[in-house]
Amino acid sequence: MSQPRTAPDLLAYDRDHVWHPYTSMTDPAPVRMVTGASGVRLRLDDGRELVDGMSSWWAALHGYNHPVLNAALAEQAGRMAHVMFGGLTHEPAIRLAQRLVEITPAGLEHVFLADSGSVAMEVALKMVLQHQRGVGHPERTRMLTIRGGYHGDTFGCMSVCDPVGGMHAMFADLLPQHVFADRPPAEGCSEADLAAWTASFRALAAAHAHELAGIVVEPRLQGAGGMWVYPLECLRVMREIADEHDLVLVFDEIATGFGRTGSLFAADAAGVRPDVLAVGKALTGGYLTMAAVLCTGEVARGLSASESGVLMHGPTFMGNPLACSVALASLDLLEQGDWAANVARIGAGLEAGLAPLRGTPGVADVRTLGAVGVVQLDHPVDVAKATEAAIEEGVWLRPFRDLIYTMPPYVTADEDVSLICRAIARASEVA
Ligand SMILES: *Cc1c(COP(=O)(O)O)cnc(C)c1O
Repeated sequence: MSQPRTAPDLLAYDRDHVWHPYTSMTDPAPVRMVTGASGVRLRLDDGRELVDGMSSWWAALHGYNHPVLNAALAEQAGRMAHVMFGGLTHEPAIRLAQRLVEITPAGLEHVFLADSGSVAMEVALKMVLQHQRGVGHPERTRMLTIRGGYHGDTFGCMSVCDPVGGMHAMFADLLPQHVFADRPPAEGCSEADLAAWTASFRALAAAHAHELAGIVVEPRLQGAGGMWVYPLECLRVMREIADEHDLVLVFDEIATGFGRTGSLFAADAAGVRPDVLAVGKALTGGYLTMAAVLCTGEVARGLSASESGVLMHGPTFMGNPLACSVALASLDLLEQGDWAANVARIGAGLEAGLAPLRGTPGVADVRTLGAVGVVQLDHPVDVAKATEAAIEEGVWLRPFRDLIYTMPPYVTADEDVSLICRAIARASEVA
């Protein structure tokens, strides 16, 4: 077969043969061809440049083609791109593990380097189950979670995703049945709403305590399950209840980690230390796929006392040196670049730019947190129309369900933040 060459040829081949996330092969949604990216801009094959409002699914914190990240990658590639992690180790993995232990809440001491967020969450679930077996409770196999969550697309992850918005209906027979509490009330809710949620969460935990192994949640901001922001107090309640019933508390900070919500981790803002913490997405500054799971000494000892004596997981590309090196460089940039000031600056720009949309026709809610801006419509978004409208404004957005939102890179300049807000406004009008 001849090799496709021109952009239209390539796109035609893509359309016929290449899966994209959550798409049909018989009726594929349109895709655009990116030929380069630099700073906060993506370059399309037709020469147009778009400000990236998505940070490539919340990962590219420092923008694209960053000289420091490029150099870290090149330097490591010159030494070794990869070696197996079974029976071997290397400095990039050790240094990254140490760095993660240092910057995450005190008491999280042991690090599993996974190759994606979903795998990290599978490992986190396994840690919880193996821990319960190790401490003599093999019957405790269910997770307590909250509705509206998203934890990845593999089977274990799907089982703790929102049961309505997720894929439960299709795979109901194949998924473990976990326990779902109501979604917490929105940030800024009344004391009465908070008290009512707390009471119902507490009661649900008590009713199922004998069979529960852990609590699994995205702290403070539920991302792909609906961009819901909830009070920090709920996390303190979860910590209390976990302690009361000997449950392992898992925070999935794959979306919230590394400053996105205004604190380095959402756990920090709440003053809560989970027993297991997962990070991913922005870990490598958007360069390579890597995630990590941290746990306490207690969890590590518990699971090591289970019948296998070991944590039963070990991906081929575990601890990949390229990913570790670029993650270390990304964490350096984060520390040197005053991320907190940038997140606050972008947050203020998003709030100012999106506030006028509150109460306009078709808009159900506008919410911002850290460097996250969300416009929720009162109807499902026409993704094709919304995307096209944003592109006409010079911005890349990827709406889903009833949400048009942005999580821009932390290096986004004020005028580009304003541009993103204008694009969101245009997209919400036409969608
Ligand atoms: C994206 C995401 C995941 C899954 O990560 P992948 O790298 O896509 O597998 C899990 N949890 C949360 C909170 C996420 O946002």
